[in-house]
Amino acid sequence: MAEQRTTPIAPRSAKPPRPTTPTRRAELAGAASSALATRTDGDAAMLCPRSRYKINAIPFNCGNIKQMNQSIVALIRPKLNLSQKESQAAHLIEHILVAPKRLKTMGVSNEFYAQNIIYHGGNVNDFYMVEYFVVRSESADAMAQMLQKHQNELHLDRDDFEKIKSALIEELTENRGEFISIAEQLSIAIFQKGSPSIRNPWNDLESVIKLTYDKTLEIFKKYNTDVALLKLSFSDYVVAKLPQIGKNVLKKPDGILELTHPWQAPGSIEFTYIIPLPQKVDLLVSTIYQKSLSDYYFGFLFQELRHKLGLVYDISTIRDYDNNTLEIYFSSSEENANKITNHIEKSLERYAPYLKEHIDHIKKRLKLYLELEWSDVSSQCLEIIETVVSGGFTETDASMLKRIDNVPLQDLINFNKLILKSLESKAISVLHKYGKVLDTKIKPFDKS
Ligand SMILES: [Zn+2]
Repeated sequence: MAEQRTTPIAPRSAKPPRPTTPTRRAELAGAASSALATRTDGDAAMLCPRSRYKINAIPFNCGNIKQMNQSIVALIRPKLNLSQKESQAAHLIEHILVAPKRLKTMGVSNEFYAQNIIYHGGNVNDFYMVEYFVVRSESADAMAQMLQKHQNELHLDRDDFEKIKSALIEELTENRGEFISIAEQLSIAIFQKGSPSIRNPWNDLESVIKLTYDKTLEIFKKYNTDVALLKLSFSDYVVAKLPQIGKNVLKKPDGILELTHPWQAPGSIEFTYIIPLPQKVDLLVSTIYQKSLSDYYFGFLFQELRHKLGLVYDISTIRDYDNNTLEIYFSSSEENANKITNHIEKSLERYAPYLKEHIDHIKKRLKLYLELEWSDVSSQCLEIIETVVSGGFTETDASMLKRIDNVPLQDLINFNKLILKSLESKAISVLHKYGKVLDTKIKPFDKS
């Protein structure tokens, strides 16, 4: 997720990720303080089809054509990422790139910003760095030109260096805690040695303090290669050659992986199946499939487990492109956990008849969401960028909308068979529960 080591310059409208399903250590940093307050009840919320995030329902009269008139312009720097040993400098560079003074030097006047830029920010994760702008579509070309023209320059004053560094130190200090270490523990437990996410600790205050102006510039020059520009809108993708992005490689622990942390309520658990997918998956098929399981109203698992049996509060599905998995997640009381996992596995065997009955409604709902997604694109833009950069998908929402009706029922039934098979043999099961003392048995980052 998108990783939340974000520099939110514009007010952030993105909802933080769920607090305790940290499939990647990275996603938690920015969310630590507010995450617990953002759980929305199922009926007031919808899951954006390709998002890790729960998005508040948008009133239907907002989805007009005018709001489709937004574009994302983004610059990807694949080599500047947190898996490099200079990870902390990369994080600092991300802050420098999106600082207002640099934007001014690039030619973004106050007038241009006020009139055209809806949202802007930066993000660095274990795989790439991105600076991104959500703009009025008519100014997308102008923004893209400014970005490209200045892509090799940090435009950094010595004076500003210290201020930007000091704000980063604030960020790192505020985000240290159990919350991150539990996510890091999960990564270490499920990824093979050498995977990008487990090469470095992400919050290394000491090495940030040591960074100098000259060293930072040197690291920028060294890794600022293979830069790729993306221009994305509702009906248009302009994507320069997609960069090669590393992936995390899963290793399957024996049995259920149990992680404890003090933020989880006593007596309640969160459970995640991390299910490996084949290399090539049609994004649209997997998106309809996700909807067919976890839509609040028509989702098969939501129906079974919450509406019929009252066993869960929340159940959702998430695509993770950094390790090519689909996750099924639920939260419930500790005593019901086994009952629920058994029920999930059994009920997926009865998927086909359910789908036959509800496929039309499920497709209609997905169409509704795709139509609305672009009207609230600022809050989803990191996920959309991730879908493109890590997922390799460059189909527009407009094109998917056209294709939905033609996706055969059988494709979804086959996809379910594949999920069932993977669930039985390859899936990793992760249980989060309350524990005062963190389990620190997992060995720390291996620097070799
Ligand atoms: Zn940051």
